[in-house]
Amino acid sequence: MDERTARAWREIDLEAVAHNANTLQSALAPGCGLMAVVKADAYGHGALPIARRLEREGVAAFAVACLEEGAALRRGGIGGEILVLGCTSPQMAPSLARWDLTQTVADEAHGLALSSQGVPLRVHLALDTGMRRLGVPAGDREAIARLCALPNLDIRGVFSHLCVSDSPLPEDRRYTLDQLSLFYDTLRWMKTRSLPVGETHIQASYGILNLPPQPCRWARAGIALYGVGSAPPRPSRLPLRPVLSLRARLATVRSLAAGEGAGYGLAFRPDTPRRLGVVTIGYADGLPRDLPQRGGQVLLRGRRCPMVGRMCMDQLLVDVTGVPASTPGDVVTLLGRDGGAEITAEEIAAICGTITNELLSRLGSRLPLVTRNG
Ligand SMILES: *Cc1c(COP(=O)(O)O)cnc(C)c1O
Repeated sequence: MDERTARAWREIDLEAVAHNANTLQSALAPGCGLMAVVKADAYGHGALPIARRLEREGVAAFAVACLEEGAALRRGGIGGEILVLGCTSPQMAPSLARWDLTQTVADEAHGLALSSQGVPLRVHLALDTGMRRLGVPAGDREAIARLCALPNLDIRGVFSHLCVSDSPLPEDRRYTLDQLSLFYDTLRWMKTRSLPVGETHIQASYGILNLPPQPCRWARAGIALYGVGSAPPRPSRLPLRPVLSLRARLATVRSLAAGEGAGYGLAFRPDTPRRLGVVTIGYADGLPRDLPQRGGQVLLRGRRCPMVGRMCMDQLLVDVTGVPASTPGDVVTLLGRDGGAEITAEEIAAICGTITNELLSRLGSRLPLVTRNG
């Protein structure tokens, strides 16, 4: 991709993702490795370039949401362990085996159905310790024992997921500690029954950030790997660096007389003369359509300019009156740094009432990737 001619693009700093991986790894217990969560195209960052760089940094395990994402990593040459976190249709068992993927067992019925396909599979058993999404209820020891006895399922790991580990509230902290206790109690019980426990994992990003190191084989980091918090403030315990910048271009700049309207619905109608910039990115690229109404801004020549009017599918209006030197072709930064200024993912997610995980993972495939420091 040639960014000199690109309309809009995602820029990923591979040095930053390497730094984040090493920083997170240093916060884990000895013997605990980082499992890089690269689902949803690595939260919009480009799963292959991210996974390739992480593999070079020594990351040996990856997690994806679905079979197709895992197969794409294998086709791209990624080795090591690839765990499918979501519930894959049992009929896809041959594909799971073909691509050498490890499948999550979502519950007993899923395990039974996977087993009955007659294809030997590597699996991790999900335990529900309180989130009530996927997993065999950790207290249902009979079900766990039955699953462990099924043919064709090679149980290589047991894991769980924390649902309030990002919260500082005392009741949430207690809930997380209860989830941890139930998890470790269940593992201990499995060991006394000589059931296969294998590789264990329970922390995601906020579990790494907010809990002491855990005696597990892996910690599954997603959002922290990309150097941002899910919501402001950015976690300060570890020096993480944002990986992604989002940029587009000024297509044209025009003068708007006082009282003239611009864009759909003529929704921007200033009462003083303005310079109006048209930017080459829109909601079909993954930006929230209501960003202008919520106070969204862009960076132009190191200065903040407000988004105005209604965002279009492929274009966006900005008021560039404050940057008189701006001219068509100028790079516009929607996310990231420009000169001394920065717009963070946390800032945009917060004004849109969402989390960075959603904002970033929706950045569309229409935006080519430019890799830096590869
Ligand atoms: C998405 C996901 C993660 C990663 O979560 P982050 O908060 O982004 O680190 C970890 N584990 C499971 C089961 C997930 O679904």
